[in-house]
Amino acid sequence: MGNFIVSARKYRPTTFLEVVGQSSITATLTNAILDNHLAQSFLFCGPRGVGKTTCARILAKTINCQNISKKVEPCDKCESCTSFNESHSFNIHELDAASNNSVDDIRNLVDQVRFAPQVGDYNIYIIDEVHMLSASAFNAFLKTLEEPPSHAIFILATTEKHKIIPTILSRCQIFDFMRIGMDDIVNHLVFVAEKEGIKVEQDALHIIAQKSDGSLRDALSIFDRLASFSDGITYKSVIDNLNILDHDYYFKITTSILQQDISKVLLIFNEIINNGFDGHHFINGLASHFRDLLVSQDKETLVLLEKGESLKEQYLTQSQMSQQSFLLKALDICNSCDVQYKTSKNQLLLVELTLMKLCSLTHSESKKKTNSINLPKQETKQEKEVENSIMELKKEEVNRKNVVEKPIEKNNADNVNAKNKTAQLISISDLEEEEQEKEEKTTEKRNEELKKEDLQEVWKEYIVLQKEKGKANFATTLDMNEPNLLSDFKIEVLISNKSQEVVIEKEKIDLHEFLRNKLQNDFIEITTKIQEKTAEERVPYTNKDKYEQMAKENTNLKNLKEKLGLDFDF
Ligand SMILES: [Zn+2]
Repeated sequence: MGNFIVSARKYRPTTFLEVVGQSSITATLTNAILDNHLAQSFLFCGPRGVGKTTCARILAKTINCQNISKKVEPCDKCESCTSFNESHSFNIHELDAASNNSVDDIRNLVDQVRFAPQVGDYNIYIIDEVHMLSASAFNAFLKTLEEPPSHAIFILATTEKHKIIPTILSRCQIFDFMRIGMDDIVNHLVFVAEKEGIKVEQDALHIIAQKSDGSLRDALSIFDRLASFSDGITYKSVIDNLNILDHDYYFKITTSILQQDISKVLLIFNEIINNGFDGHHFINGLASHFRDLLVSQDKETLVLLEKGESLKEQYLTQSQMSQQSFLLKALDICNSCDVQYKTSKNQLLLVELTLMKLCSLTHSESKKKTNSINLPKQETKQEKEVENSIMELKKEEVNRKNVVEKPIEKNNADNVNAKNKTAQLISISDLEEEEQEKEEKTTEKRNEELKKEDLQEVWKEYIVLQKEKGKANFATTLDMNEPNLLSDFKIEVLISNKSQEVVIEKEKIDLHEFLRNKLQNDFIEITTKIQEKTAEERVPYTNKDKYEQMAKENTNLKNLKEKLGLDFDF
């Protein structure tokens, strides 16, 4: 291990051509050198580990090479090049402003600038994390930056461009370095793996690239770490070591959500928690999973799915089984869980509730027309897989038929409807088909009879749910009076003031959905009515109310108030 050199250093590019993922910047720099139009001050902005310092060094090396090629590549043989390659060039001066940010540090640097280089034509001064310089250090530097000697080139690098003062910005040619794309990172890791003779799995490299968030340096350091304690880098070793939740879990739980199998969903979640993952991490991961399914639905957006090939297949298959409207709502539900998570008193319950909501979402979504499912026209492998999966689902449903609630069957009926071919593939009894047809007709709008007792029961259930969600105000408002069942499935809620009306309006959609699903009736409509209470009935609320009520009971109070000139405290 003694001679171990980290890959980021060992495979650090030494020419512009080798720089990963910054082609527009390297092209501009190359052209500037070629046309002899090189600026004297540069500002390299961008996230960490994307090649800012590397490009600065290559620039220094290239312009100092004594036998530069026509393609603007350094020769790697001359005195200047070899000293660069052995990292002891005299032409390059680096200052890390994060730790040397005082006026004195800058003065030292400015003093050096006057001297012409001994070898080569240029001295390059790289000031890393330049935003960390103190204001006075900045000022001490400004003069030199304005009128640099012709042999000096300044390259200022920063991760925080917005912290650079305008006087500096206006004096530099600015290059914005982008995060490096997943594919570029993966390809570079493959290159390093080949050089080092390390066996790797593509999916594993994709996870590393994802985790490194566009920073090649981070990706390489994760790569080194994983390579050092196993003989190959496998998908399994990556998720185990990086504490990443296996994609499999997200696929499994999504399948169960689509099947509305609440118990299975909760069991999978429990398993995840038992494996030491936290709920917040999980719900955000699930949201990303839905996002990935969403982009997989359309060929145009498929490029946004940054996964390894074998995973891509899985995403495509599952994306064809989920509807766009479901995914959008699911993302929304996950997002509100994310927002509430930190303040929630019972975080596990919050996630469980979210999962249950997601399950019921499939239910209500499947009620709507499903012609949005767009399957590829030709018989592709994917389509076969989708069909097989639907068939599998169908078989399962048939087996569980007597246990299952109606909505699930309707869900399937819709799938069959949307994908009429599937119906032929499935051998089900005539009786079954008849039943489905009957159901398909009623799928449009549910219209179950409403019973007062049922309504009251569901109403209480909903109130409990709201309390659990921490919506105490809303729950109390609903709890104040029993709902009145009017004709035409209208449900009237008596309230006592305008603010309660607002509270109900805000949650109305959710309340409708709950009642409609529970009571199997899509015509249910909530109306509110402000109940005018007589003065006697009105509960004294403000101090003035309280005083007036007390004064009515005891007239002496009024006298006392007037004699002493008292007023109530608001
Ligand atoms: Zn050279």
